[in-house]
Amino acid sequence: MVQTRSFTAAAAPITLTSSDSHPESSKRRKVASADESEPATKKPAQKKRKKTKDEPLTEDFPVRVSSPWKIGAHVSAAGGVENAVRNAAMVGANAFALFVKSQRKWDSPPLSVGNVDAFKRRMREFGYSPKHVLPHGSYLVNLGNPDEEKRQKPFNCFLDDLQRCEQLGLELYNFHPGSTVGQATKEESIAFIAECINNAHKATKYITIVIENMAGSGNVIGSQFSELKGIIDHVEDKTRVGVCLDTCHAFAAGYDISTKNGWDAILSAFDTEVGPSYLKGLHLNDSKAALGSKKDRHENIGLGHIGISTFRHVVSDPRMQDIPLILETPTFEAIDIWTKEISALNCLSNLVDDVPETELSLVNEITSLVRSHATNKTGKASKTRARKRDATEDQDHDSDCT
Ligand SMILES: [Zn+2]
Ligand SMILES: [Zn+2]
Repeated sequence: MVQTRSFTAAAAPITLTSSDSHPESSKRRKVASADESEPATKKPAQKKRKKTKDEPLTEDFPVRVSSPWKIGAHVSAAGGVENAVRNAAMVGANAFALFVKSQRKWDSPPLSVGNVDAFKRRMREFGYSPKHVLPHGSYLVNLGNPDEEKRQKPFNCFLDDLQRCEQLGLELYNFHPGSTVGQATKEESIAFIAECINNAHKATKYITIVIENMAGSGNVIGSQFSELKGIIDHVEDKTRVGVCLDTCHAFAAGYDISTKNGWDAILSAFDTEVGPSYLKGLHLNDSKAALGSKKDRHENIGLGHIGISTFRHVVSDPRMQDIPLILETPTFEAIDIWTKEISALNCLSNLVDDVPETELSLVNEITSLVRSHATNKTGKASKTRARKRDATEDQDHDSDCT
């Protein structure tokens, strides 16, 4: 039997439902009380509406554990930013990331009052704190381009994102710093990026701009801590800038975090070169690509070159408490992979013994699930069903972590 740390004894599911958060559940309650007071021959009991893909029942959501490590995922905001909150709860996340507008378009319609109100209401209903939400910037934006005209459009898009975050009451915003596009030195681009951050600070009220470390391909800035620090050095308001550490990007950039010593070493390098107070969040991704490959290829937890033990070190490290720890791993359009990864990571954060055995069984569970969905995506439906059954059975006698 696996021993867990004492705080889990008090772990309780967070209440996900409220009378107005889910019309379906309140409707069922109403019907039940009517049945008690009226003869059965009167109106037949109203039929339960079936849940649909768009209208999941909160009762079916996984239990959210109470933990100081805020583990979540980058969830979809399709159909409205408010849907991201529900999508996070659907996978048992205690933190989440989202795009606050389409990440592939320069212009999007502004957030409506309805979107903003619904987002804030759901944040309250589902019990999320803004400090555990880490929105992600558009992939189109490059603030390091030395061409001033070519920097203006990305800057406008960047600023628009920040203003949307403030409308939503969010406190953090994560972005990829940019590239020299081969037409400037890294130092020049670093200064342009910092200038954009300074201008964005002046045009916003309070949001903290969080720079993500990168894998380091081509002319991209931010794969080395010295580059992140270089940007921060030029930022005037240092209370409103930070760093998000992506584990896959760090590994691809050459930081060997596949061991406990490696994890401790990267944190001490971060503390020395950047400063511990700047760490505002993590992206938890294993890596398909090898150490130092400079390739940004995210892999599911425990299935890549980093390995599951590192993630256990991460989610049991007191320095990683109370900041968003966000999965950006492949889902094959099936959210149950994130549900499994989140529950596995929550499990790992509690372990005090039987570690190799439990790690192995969690990796097996994630592997089964990923394989079943990957197979499904390639159209081998019948095999998938069999593997799904296997995966489900595996979960029934799984890792003592439920
Ligand atoms: Zn990113
Ligand atoms: Zn990332």
